[in-house]
Amino acid sequence: MRLVIVGGSDAGISAGLRARELDPAVEVMLLLADRFPNYSICGLPFYISGETADWRDLAHQKLPDLESAGLELLMEHQVTSIQPEAKLVHATGPESRPVSLHYDKLIIATGAELVRPPIPGLDLEGVHLLHTMEDSFRVQAAGAALGGGRALVIGGGYIGLEMADSLTHRGLRVTVVEQLPAVMPTVDAELGNLVAEELGRHAVTVRTGVAVERIERIERNAGRLVATGSGGFEGEFDLVLVAVGVRPSADLAVAAGIEIGTRGAIRVNRCMETTVADVYGAGDCVETWHRLLQRPLYLPLGTTAHKQGRVAGERAVGGQAEFQGSLGTQVVKVFDLAVARTGLRQDEALHEGFQPVTTETRVWDHKAYYPGAHELTIRVTGDRRSGRLLGAQMIGHPAGQVAKRIDIFATALFHAMTVDGLSDLDLSYTPPFSAPWDPVQVAAQEWAREVPRAPAG
Ligand SMILES: Cc1cc2nc3c(=O)[nH]c(=O)nc-3n(C[C@H](O)[C@H](O)[C@H](O)COP(=O)(O)OP(=O)(O)OC[C@H]3O[C@@H](n4cnc5c(N)ncnc54)[C@H](O)[C@@H]3O)c2cc1C
Repeated sequence: MRLVIVGGSDAGISAGLRARELDPAVEVMLLLADRFPNYSICGLPFYISGETADWRDLAHQKLPDLESAGLELLMEHQVTSIQPEAKLVHATGPESRPVSLHYDKLIIATGAELVRPPIPGLDLEGVHLLHTMEDSFRVQAAGAALGGGRALVIGGGYIGLEMADSLTHRGLRVTVVEQLPAVMPTVDAELGNLVAEELGRHAVTVRTGVAVERIERIERNAGRLVATGSGGFEGEFDLVLVAVGVRPSADLAVAAGIEIGTRGAIRVNRCMETTVADVYGAGDCVETWHRLLQRPLYLPLGTTAHKQGRVAGERAVGGQAEFQGSLGTQVVKVFDLAVARTGLRQDEALHEGFQPVTTETRVWDHKAYYPGAHELTIRVTGDRRSGRLLGAQMIGHPAGQVAKRIDIFATALFHAMTVDGLSDLDLSYTPPFSAPWDPVQVAAQEWAREVPRAPAG
């Protein structure tokens, strides 16, 4: 049996490894457009900042490990079409060599592509987008060559803000422009404003409610880039980085007659099957089943790509795995802040027909008498009718274990717990790390006080 996988990143490699783990006899061939199999693109900001000195360290697993696990990798092979009726994949290899492969099972794991906003000047030298290893080499080289200077980041989402941190680390003076009223639109605007304050503390200029409309090169001014936008925005920069989101890379699937679902992503069921027999999909190119809403959304995240790939790989060799769904759990570091969320926010829950109540709690991450305590801000959203937990947002110093604490909420959400139920969890405690009631439980109890329920029995 031959399993062909298009894409050699998080989803594709996870699929291939799982298939071989379950069936060492299966022939697994991966075709990838670039020459960087299994590289952590989530790590690109840290390579560009210089915190991870060698890009080779970004590999989740190195090529010899992948090969010894039985994966055959065809690098620099751009798949150009899929013929499901003949079970063929056509690609262009190095030196434009045509390659056609027969498959018994096929997994499409082509990821996402960057959204290019319609701003004149995006093709100018010095204007960068960031999605691939090759992109990161260009940004890293430009940042290093500048050794200072001014950078503009267009887009205040999580990648834009990671890059503001990264480029500041490189010694550049950074401006972030976001067209929405607050940065980090994945969390409530009040929390986004706390992130903006943190950026300000690190000399990053933040302009919200501003849309960049044009980028030009002004030769008379040392060839600098001039960006102009709404609200009279104008600035001169040495480097511009555009980070305004991604869209699913689904053209191959569309051309092969595979059905497309939400936001242009490949339609898949929870077995990661597409609408065409023996063709599966996984990762940023497909829809993601939302566990709480029980319907597909588009939620491109590395964690999800790994899980979906694993399910697709297992299914392709006859296994019974099902994707259990995402809650959109995510965390990001912006200088000395960690910002995280899981599940739904108040506005999203309201839109979905719940009766949401959201409370905010400020609480020390550990007993304040032990040195190094930091305040956490935690927002809990629960349903007034059922008492069910719907979501949580958290912001605080990374030492306050924001990432692990949002994961407690994510675990509770995964198991459809009530907000009240969080108080019953047996969580660890010692004064340097927590309190007898963990901050998660303090926040849950605050919510329960706001939404009193009749005592049981
Ligand atoms: C800067 C940055 C930071 C991020 N940080 C985080 C984070 O902290 N946490 C998180 O959960 N997620 C993060 N993400 C998102 C995460 O990286 C993606 O969700 C994840 O990489 C998706 O994996 P994938 O395998 O679906 O697609 P990709 O990683 O995009 O890989 C797609 C693969 O398909 C190949 N391919 C595409 N088209 C073809 C073709 N026609 N023929 C052959 N091969 C093809 C490519 O070469 C590549 O191998 C980040 C993303 C970026 C850009």
